[in-house]
Amino acid sequence: MRVAVFSTHPHDRQFLDRANGGRRHELLFLESRLELGTVTTASDCQAVCVFVNDRLNAEVLRGLHGLGVRLVVLRSAGFNHVDLTVAAELGIAVGRVPEYSPHAVAEHTVALLLTLNRKIHRAHARVREGNFALEGLLGFDLYGRTVGVVGTGKIGRCFARIMRGFGCEVLATDPHPHAEAEAMGVRYVALNELLARSDIVSLHCPLTPATHHLINASALAQMKRGAMLLNTSRGAVVDTPAVVAALKSGQLGHLGLDVYEEEADLFFRDLSNNALQDDVFARLLTFPNVVITGHQAFFTEDALRAIAETTIANIDSFVAEGRPLHAVGVERLA
Ligand code: NAD
Repeated sequence: MRVAVFSTHPHDRQFLDRANGGRRHELLFLESRLELGTVTTASDCQAVCVFVNDRLNAEVLRGLHGLGVRLVVLRSAGFNHVDLTVAAELGIAVGRVPEYSPHAVAEHTVALLLTLNRKIHRAHARVREGNFALEGLLGFDLYGRTVGVVGTGKIGRCFARIMRGFGCEVLATDPHPHAEAEAMGVRYVALNELLARSDIVSLHCPLTPATHHLINASALAQMKRGAMLLNTSRGAVVDTPAVVAALKSGQLGHLGLDVYEEEADLFFRDLSNNALQDDVFARLLTFPNVVITGHQAFFTEDALRAIAETTIANIDSFVAEGRPLHAVGVERLA
């Protein structure tokens, strides 16, 4: 099968080529993002392979369908960037990577947490400047603190387990509580109670209409003054201007982000020679108590290998049985 692979970076090519050993499928590697203006680059392809910032809205899907594309394979777990209703109407199958390494994302969340708490980002810069003063580097013991986990799916449970290992009390909220989480001592409470009681709130829910701007001004006001917010899920779960206001007032004490609502125009590229156009993002960068990484939580060797292998397995299964191994359909929007 001929597959147009959009948003290709060297690591995508390396791991996909390896998983596609023996060249079972013809992979056409494209650096461009999939959007309306680049749809035609998938001419002569029966499938497209995309990442999180490719846009598969109704127009793009119709364009792909017109070219003969019948399969979309996502190199991600999240599928909020695909109009699944239109894909189903057009008969385009969508496959995803439901699980590649929940550990990769959970461990990166812990890296953000520890960096913010112990001010590693500031300490590193200071020591390199020959400044060994401790003022401004005061942290707190994690042991005994309360951590709130929003979404106890694969990643949320992994993160909760690590936090339990630190000796934290872990509260969680999820419309589908998980027995494994309860068995490790996680207590399910309503979101309001989680926000009010947690010293650290970490987001691990998918982006859906129900979770869009879940953390807005009112949610931030319910949090403990000076608490920490971590978001490694999807940018739009957080209302960023509201977060900037909470940081300015001191209501929010620390912010760790791996995702950002407007990241599609920023992340995965070297823009170091350009003027930053996003004023909200630029404001975030001015706070000493904010640490941002550019959607790299998934970025481990183990995860990339698993993503590539599942992606090729999705294509294999479509060729053999007319359906990707891990199909995602409209029912997932419920
Ligand atoms: P998952 O499907 O295993 O778990 C998601 C959980 O969120 C489920 O238990 C679900 O019931 C829960 N949920 C749904 N709506 C909720 C709500 N309103 N409030 C609280 N919980 C809610 O998914 P996962 O593999 O754990 O991944 C979670 C998210 O992490 C993904 O949707 C994706 O957006 C994000 N992610 C980010 C990266 C990264 O590199 N930063 C990588 C992978 C995944």
